[in-house]
Amino acid sequence: MLLHIGIDDTDSAAHGMCTTYIGALLIKRLAKVGEVEEAKLVRLNPNIKYKTRGNAAVALAVRTKKVEEAKRIAKRAVEEFAVFDDANTNPGIVFYEGKPPKEFNEFYHRALHSVVEIDEAERLLKAYGAEYVKYKLGRGIVGALAAIGAELTQATYEYIAYRTRQRWGTPRNLDVDSVLKMDALTFPLTFNNFDYRERRMLIAPHTPCPVLFGIRGVSAQVVEEAAKMVLPGEEIALSVIYKTNQGTDAHLQEVSRVAEVEPFSSVILTGEVASVPRVIPGGHVFFQLRDAYGEEITCAAYEPTKQFRNVVRALIPGDRVKVYGGVDESKTINLEKLEVLKLKRERLANPRCERCGKRMESAGRDQGYRCRRCKTKAKEKVKEKLERSIEERLYSVPPIAMRHLSKPLVFCL
Ligand SMILES: [Zn+2]
Repeated sequence: MLLHIGIDDTDSAAHGMCTTYIGALLIKRLAKVGEVEEAKLVRLNPNIKYKTRGNAAVALAVRTKKVEEAKRIAKRAVEEFAVFDDANTNPGIVFYEGKPPKEFNEFYHRALHSVVEIDEAERLLKAYGAEYVKYKLGRGIVGALAAIGAELTQATYEYIAYRTRQRWGTPRNLDVDSVLKMDALTFPLTFNNFDYRERRMLIAPHTPCPVLFGIRGVSAQVVEEAAKMVLPGEEIALSVIYKTNQGTDAHLQEVSRVAEVEPFSSVILTGEVASVPRVIPGGHVFFQLRDAYGEEITCAAYEPTKQFRNVVRALIPGDRVKVYGGVDESKTINLEKLEVLKLKRERLANPRCERCGKRMESAGRDQGYRCRRCKTKAKEKVKEKLERSIEERLYSVPPIAMRHLSKPLVFCL
């Protein structure tokens, strides 16, 4: 019998823990009753407010004859490690025997693109007679069910190393040179190891959670080999390789017009820049995008997106662009990527005076243009070439600001 076990919402931003750790521990403990054939780390809608850090859920598929014992082991692991003290931590476990129905996969897509309530998960679980456990509010059953339903047709892999328990909450000590070397040898088969411009190592978190480091890449073999190159400076207590939807842009859905953009979704939308980008205190940059129907929406590049903001600031009204990003409550698109499709290269301007070089003024309605000083005249406006500092290509926020689900630029070209 193939038993699917989904787990979510066991962690706490303040107190640490990590659902991926419980999953890794469970793989080890389930070895007593069977063999884990698949381990998925599934990222869900990154735009919802009550999410824990990365909004990640875990699903394991275990081949076992001892189904009830496997379930007991899973419940015990969650009860032992979930952060029940945190009001925002509401764990859930889902069990499903056999091949998950397509409705579970559809549920995964809803949990990725919109806001799904606990009731909806519960109705679906009851309809299929699936066993589930809710702790406190039990919001975790949403992610747990979605993780079981996730068919990762496009996937990447993550190797995660965990620390010994007594080290949790203490500073991590990874050999930076070994990480740089690993990156040099394995990029782009591994990705987001380092942000060179910000001089930040990205494989180690800065939270009190049990993770020592994680390496993301295109295959299980690649991440396993890459992990061997990292010198950890402390004991690795446990490790795991998850198949995941990270780095796949699975959250983004193309929409054809502004009217279709829903709050909390993640969209791809094509349009024309309709305003001069404005920078507000704090360094956030905003501009208006207009679709083919004349409807406008605000696009934002926030301060953490660093040098990506320079690209956004260089846009001018009339540029054709494709924007990629998460939508907030007020329907502002928080840019993750920006594809410049067609740059505006020229503009119409008043002609310049041949004698003094100054720009002419209008000589009155339908009267053409004239130089106030030299009295020279011209009939029409002239086309002027615009010097542009950006190119017609795809731009992305830097690795340091990239969402787990975002596909790195190197895979998009
Ligand atoms: Zn003149």
